[in-house]
Amino acid sequence: MITFGPVPSRRLGNSLGINNIPVKKICTYSCVYCQVGITKHYSITREAFYDPVKIYEEVANHLHKISNKPDYLTFVADGEPTLDINLGKSIEKLKNFEIPIAVITNASLLNDPEVRTELSLADWVSVKIDVNDESVWKKLNRPHKNLSFDKYLEGLFLFSSIFKGKLASETMLVQGLNDQVDLIRSTATLIEQIQPFIAYISVPTRPPAVSSVKKPSENTINTAYQIFKEAGLNTELLIGFEGVNTGYTGNVIDDIMDMCAVHPIREDTMDEILKKDQADPTILQLLLDGNYIKKVAYNEKFFYVRNMVKQ
Ligand code: SF4
Repeated sequence: MITFGPVPSRRLGNSLGINNIPVKKICTYSCVYCQVGITKHYSITREAFYDPVKIYEEVANHLHKISNKPDYLTFVADGEPTLDINLGKSIEKLKNFEIPIAVITNASLLNDPEVRTELSLADWVSVKIDVNDESVWKKLNRPHKNLSFDKYLEGLFLFSSIFKGKLASETMLVQGLNDQVDLIRSTATLIEQIQPFIAYISVPTRPPAVSSVKKPSENTINTAYQIFKEAGLNTELLIGFEGVNTGYTGNVIDDIMDMCAVHPIREDTMDEILKKDQADPTILQLLLDGNYIKKVAYNEKFFYVRNMVKQ
């Protein structure tokens, strides 16, 4: 199947997925945390996979079967979607549906001008920026041997300078690899230079390609969030739970858990939530006692963070 969903996505609302990589899985990377396993078919050569007409027809059929129009048509492949040499043609055809188009890419081929031009046709693009250090990049993303870190950076800068749509970045933190404070600071500085409208921080939440891969601790995730914020980045956490929009719904448990899924809640904000939801303050202690959330310190302030063990 080329299309799937729509799936609820905190990043994209209701998103109809398009997998434009037919053979499992072709990628320029073999990230240690990859959820679709080890890369058996490494490639950096773009090639034709599905005919754009076939992709268009599959999307049309899928849209016909579902009642609600999705918020996005999203290229999210079992591999790297920009390896598809027809990506630009497919995006152009899909524009006929008048639904915004998103592409989630590892950004490794952005130094190719054609890839940049084709991706520019999309409305929303997420680029992977896990680390700003070549040796860690090699250990974490395990790029194809002919990829160069400097060219990857160059591609990121060039694309961000021409892209007129919504640019997001996504940083996957892995314990012991890219979660040290100095590395996180350097990653935040790099991301700040490409000026995404939002910088997502995520952690491995599904079985990874390499079984020893672990999530960083809650304290580390909180520290990363604070470092990103201090770098001026509009930051959100994607730590495994695609929560609904956070608001004051009157259901204080949902409000706390949904907000914790996106970012740590500072103590004073927590007081505000409890007040607005007119909640019994002992609920907070129950969530702490039940290990649903944890209280952590950062910069002389206390924050509540989601306990990932409970997900
Ligand atoms: S870039 Fe994406 S698909 Fe490719 S190995 Fe990394 S996580 Fe998996």
